[in-house]
Order: sequence, then C-alpha cells, then structure tokens
Amino acid sequence: MRLESKVAVITGGSSGIGRESCLLFAQEGAKIVVADVNDDGGQETVDLVTQAGGQAVYVRADVSKAADCERMVTTAEQEFEQLDILFNNAGIMHGDDGDAVSTSEEIWERTLDINLRGVFLGCKYGIPALRRAGGGAIINTASFVAVMGAATPQIAYTASKGGVLAMTRELAVIHARENIRVNALCPGPLHTELLMNYLDTDEKKQRRLVHIPMGRFGQAREMAQAALFLASDESSFMTGSEFLVDGGITSAYVTPE
Ligand code: NAD
Repeated sequence: MRLESKVAVITGGSSGIGRESCLLFAQEGAKIVVADVNDDGGQETVDLVTQAGGQAVYVRADVSKAADCERMVTTAEQEFEQLDILFNNAGIMHGDDGDAVSTSEEIWERTLDINLRGVFLGCKYGIPALRRAGGGAIINTASFVAVMGAATPQIAYTASKGGVLAMTRELAVIHARENIRVNALCPGPLHTELLMNYLDTDEKKQRRLVHIPMGRFGQAREMAQAALFLASDESSFMTGSEFLVDGGITSAYVTPE
C-alpha cells in the first residue's frame, strides 16, 4: 500500500476531488480526517471509507476560519496520533464571479477567503504538526486557470488560484530542508458539482469543452490519482511543482476538430 500508516487531512472531503481522494488514500492505507462545511456529505464520505474497510473521521471546518483549521489538525493528532499529509483542496467558484467590472467586492473577498486564505491557514496550523511527524507532504489544489486566462471570466477565482500556485512555490522552498514537500495540483475542467453548477447551460459547457484537446471533462477520480502520487513517496524528489492534470488544455492553441 502506498500510504501505509500515514494520516491525512483532506479539506473539501465531502464532495468531488476531496471525496475521491479520501476514498483512494484510505484504500492505500491512510487514516483520514475529512474536513468540510457540508456535514451530511462529510459523514457520507466517512461511511464510504469505513464500508470499504478504511478509517476516517469527519470534522466540520470552514477553511477560512483559523480556529477551524487548528481544530482539523488537532483532530488528526488526537484521533490518529500524527499528521503526514495535508491536502488543502476546499474551494469555491461563485456564480456571480465574472469580469473585473461586474464582480462585487463581496464575491472577491469570499472567494479569496476560502480559496487562498484557506490554504494559508491550513499550512499555518498543519506545518507544525508535519514537523512533529518528522516531515510530510502538502498538496494545494490550484487550477489550470492559475497559468492561463479562462475563456469564461472569473476574476476572483483565477486570482485566488494564482495565489495558491505562488504560495506553493514559496512554501516548498522554505520547508524543503524540513522534509516537507509542497506541490500544487492544477486540475483542468472537471465533471464535478463545482464546475457543472457554474457552467449551468449547454452553451457554457460547450464553450469550455471546445478548448480541451481530449474533448471531455476530467473526473474527480483522475485528480485523486494525481494527488495520491504527490502524497506518496513516489514523488519524493518533487516539490514546488505545478502538477497539471488537464486533458491537454494548457498545451492547446487551437483544438483539432
Ligand atoms: P466540489 O464543489 O465538488 O467540492 C468542493 C468541496 O469544498 C465541497 O465539499 C464544499 O462543501 C467544500 N467547501 C466549500 N467551502 C468550504 C469551506 N469554506 N471550508 C471547507 N470546505 C469547503 O468541487 P471540486 O471540483 O471537487 O473542487 C475541489 C477543488 O478543485 C477546489 O479547490 C476547486 O477550485 C478545484 N478545481 C476544480 C476544478 C473543476 O473543474 N471542478 C478545476 C480546477 C480546480
């Protein structure tokens, strides 16, 4: 097993990439702290993990709140004695996030609070625990929009993910000698609730799909596989990277018919 005797905190574990990662990491031997604000979804993830023979607990944690991030880390150490893997994955894409002119300051702040401050707070409380465990792996979910402009404007989301990517590089450099690796997972457009709710008409979906060389949205499970690689010792010489798993979208200039 690739994560035998490891303990992972996974934020946004109630749904999408987070849930699939909880299931896959547990299957590979990790004990999981599922952190989210969706209590029903979180409990469902825990049930799915335990039904498959794994170990998991749910903790309600709004990643934009310091006390909640502290609690999710304490939960890992209290329930499972240590923290080895911190997957800062929770994020939102608000339907009213548009271009610079139309986007309100309120949407800007809410998006940055969860997507960017949330990663900072996860690290603020997670890094001391990783040090106590003798090192570990941090994975921060950024996005392909951190490296290219999105065809559908979403200024706050794009800015937040750019921040996640830049912060990941600095974290990686600063903590490299502490045996803590920090990498960003940059998914392409996925068939998860987050994007499907945002691209809520066929026309909007098509506008995004046309840019993806593979001609389809990615699946949350495919991101979990990538996160597993970043969490495991198989990526032992990788830190500070932007790990693009995007169906080729960032390589495309025009997509063939
Ligand atoms: P999702 O909506 O299925 O899951 C996101 C989870 O985060 C939900 O369970 C939600 O309840 C939780 N969450 C929201 N606000 C929170 C908060 N304040 N504190 C704790 N948890 C909170 O979406 P997903 O596609 O699985 O997204 C996961 C990550 O992947 C996000 O960071 C997202 O920005 C990123 N991402 C998604 C796509 C895509 O196309 N879906 C592409 C690139 C990056």
